[in-house]
Amino acid sequence: MSDDVIYLDYNASTPCDPRVVEAMLPYLTGTFANPSSRHHRPGRDAFTALEEARSTVARFLGAKSATEIVFTSGATEANNLALMGVSGVRGERGRHIVTQVTEHPSVLEPLIHLRDSGWDVTEIGVDSDGRVRLDELSGALRDDTVLISLMLANNETGVIQPVAQAAELARERGALIHCDAAQAVGKLTVDIAALNVNLLTLSGHKLYAPKGIGALFLRRSRPPVRLPPLFRGGGHEHGLRSGTPNLPGAVALARALEIACGDLATEMDRLADLRDRLEVKVVGELDDCSVNGSMAHRLPGTSNLSFAGIEGNALLASLPDLAVSTGSACTSAHSQASPVLLAMGVQPALARASLRLSVGRFTTADEVDRAAARIVEEVTRLRSI
Ligand SMILES: *Cc1c(COP(=O)(O)O)cnc(C)c1O
Repeated sequence: MSDDVIYLDYNASTPCDPRVVEAMLPYLTGTFANPSSRHHRPGRDAFTALEEARSTVARFLGAKSATEIVFTSGATEANNLALMGVSGVRGERGRHIVTQVTEHPSVLEPLIHLRDSGWDVTEIGVDSDGRVRLDELSGALRDDTVLISLMLANNETGVIQPVAQAAELARERGALIHCDAAQAVGKLTVDIAALNVNLLTLSGHKLYAPKGIGALFLRRSRPPVRLPPLFRGGGHEHGLRSGTPNLPGAVALARALEIACGDLATEMDRLADLRDRLEVKVVGELDDCSVNGSMAHRLPGTSNLSFAGIEGNALLASLPDLAVSTGSACTSAHSQASPVLLAMGVQPALARASLRLSVGRFTTADEVDRAAARIVEEVTRLRSI
């Protein structure tokens, strides 16, 4: 990364932790064989390493068994596999799915596709804090509802949804529940047993592992979820995801989870302190600057700020020394107001005047101080012209 740019975009992607790189390197050169080639020793070694990585991922997520973990290319694929898969096997029972409006595009787009093919999809709203209301969620459930899809933490605001309570509602109605936890794993305690979800998505590059690896947790009991695959071929990953597995990626994901879970409580406090330090310095210095999203239910490292009277894109353009985002990375090419903020009732002009700042493992207090000073400086300058 260029040294002169302060990176505050950890929600878009994280650098690999050097310990993760160290763990995966032997699987790029030495133990490189195809894990399916179990007729020879190198293949068996690769297979053993893959299954060890799977067990580690299962253990740190609180899954009952390693067979519940399917490695994918990332969270987008895991979300597609979950949603298209459940629709493939549950269509007989009913054709209704409930989700909410601030989900990631990799959840919303497959659901739009399902709607086009005859499914009924209810997208419930959020309150001004960015959270779904459980009574509204409960009211949206019907006898033909087969699935709820609810994210754990939002990528733009960091707002945390009441997933465990939603899982309770799903169970009462005999529906399954899928959770996109791409922003939550490694940042919060994510315990599948406590959340009680049937399916859960995670992504490597959001937790200091490389891009191109992720996983879907798929509960095999009460009830066992059996899905049809997205890709057909050699039958890898219990037939759910054909294609030679990304062994270095799987090893990296396992190591990344181990590191993140190792000092989670301390790191959560440190990130919350950095985030609060940033907000105190920016919101304290500027008039008409507001924090978007629930203060009580928010990821420790995410801050979404609105600055009345300016354009977020103009602010971005005047801050080339900061790597930050307006809205989600996926929509930042368009200068539209963030649908996430609009759904929370933020006025369009204010929604277009927002920045997402996300701190992470390698962020220092000095970087936060310098970034805050630059934001204050540029907002003040833009407001004066
Ligand atoms: C980043 C992200 C995704 C997509 O993850 P990839 O691994 O890049 O496909 C999905 N959901 C959320 C909430 C995310 O933040």
